[in-house]
Amino acid sequence: MEDRQLVYMDHAATTAVDPEIVQAMVPYLHNHFGNPSSIYSIAREAKEAVDSARVKVAAALGAKPDEIFFTSGGTESDNWAIKGVAYANRKRGDHLITSKIEHHAVLHTCQYLEKQGFRVTYLPVDQYGLVDPGELERSITDTTTLVSVMYANNEIGTIEPVKELASITHEHGAYFHTDAVQAVGHIPVSVDSTGVDLLSLSGHKFNGPKGTGALYIRKGIRIDNILHGGGQERNRRAGTENLAGIVGTGKAIELATTGIEEKGARIRAMRDRLISGIQGSIPHTRLNGHPSLRLPGNLNISFDFIEGESMLLLLDSFGICASTGSACTSDSLEPSHVLLATGLPAETAHGSLRLTLDVENTDEEVDYVLLTLAKVVGRLREMSPLGKPAT
Ligand code: PLP
Repeated sequence: MEDRQLVYMDHAATTAVDPEIVQAMVPYLHNHFGNPSSIYSIAREAKEAVDSARVKVAAALGAKPDEIFFTSGGTESDNWAIKGVAYANRKRGDHLITSKIEHHAVLHTCQYLEKQGFRVTYLPVDQYGLVDPGELERSITDTTTLVSVMYANNEIGTIEPVKELASITHEHGAYFHTDAVQAVGHIPVSVDSTGVDLLSLSGHKFNGPKGTGALYIRKGIRIDNILHGGGQERNRRAGTENLAGIVGTGKAIELATTGIEEKGARIRAMRDRLISGIQGSIPHTRLNGHPSLRLPGNLNISFDFIEGESMLLLLDSFGICASTGSACTSDSLEPSHVLLATGLPAETAHGSLRLTLDVENTDEEVDYVLLTLAKVVGRLREMSPLGKPAT
């Protein structure tokens, strides 16, 4: 193997738990293991730890602590927001609106609700992955109870005009939910300046532990519970709290949002060097997503005449962890629904590569990826059955 080193550029998939966060969590797995619902002192300590994490999550979003509900992650938060609002407001209306480029945690939840008799409009996006507020204006009706549009897309990094979309939604008396799983901890997110009513986040996307997350629910929102059982989370989300996970998420959000603009600028500079390096050295590429309205760490590029899966395997043999625009479902390769929604043909979507950087990536890694990628693309194009670029 040539120059083997590990370069992790798949931070949108998941992140490593920061050692400082592990240190904060460990006591709550052992010495302070109490059940926050009990009344003796180690339980009270546990409850205090949950409350303190809640304050940290609230502070990061500009919310009030009692508007934060801990969940098992982004998927549960999305399910709760969408099903909870749809069911609780069914008498008022049976119409929901979302976008075609949502994560499956949103799309499959909406499809499930369609089977329960709800109607769902899936808003299209433009070539950059942006939802057009005018489209929302034309689709929303008196029977719409919820609009759910993501804060930033997980594949192409496009940041949606959430504030404008929330404002249109409110003019029509509906609630606005945003899946901010990719945004929180990476760009400043404020529930008040955007006016969102519900917001999903997930700890493992910003160096917290997997299986932890939260749903922000603005005070006064009518929403049903989805998990039934004990009285945890002020009778809204049953189940003994994931104590260490919650502590970890609290610490993680505090660290991630400290100096977020400066870290973002550093990440953006590395990412932009990657983009211009790729575009300068490899012909027949296309940058997916918006040129400027995008997450600082996201880069998504299509390479003509190449299969994304083979690119990933070869990159992996050089120690580079990346992601592609296809998802392996059973034994077929489905092109990404996000790239298709931006108008990309299926074969171009198949040849796309997503690199997602974080603050721990280095300039040396960027150089290594640029060098390796040119080699990998050259080699694959030589053997490509999909045709070769005209020279
Ligand atoms: N929403 C988005 C935009 C995501 O990127 C993800 C995870 O990749 C999820 C939801 C699901 O979050 P979790 O893995 O915490 O269930």
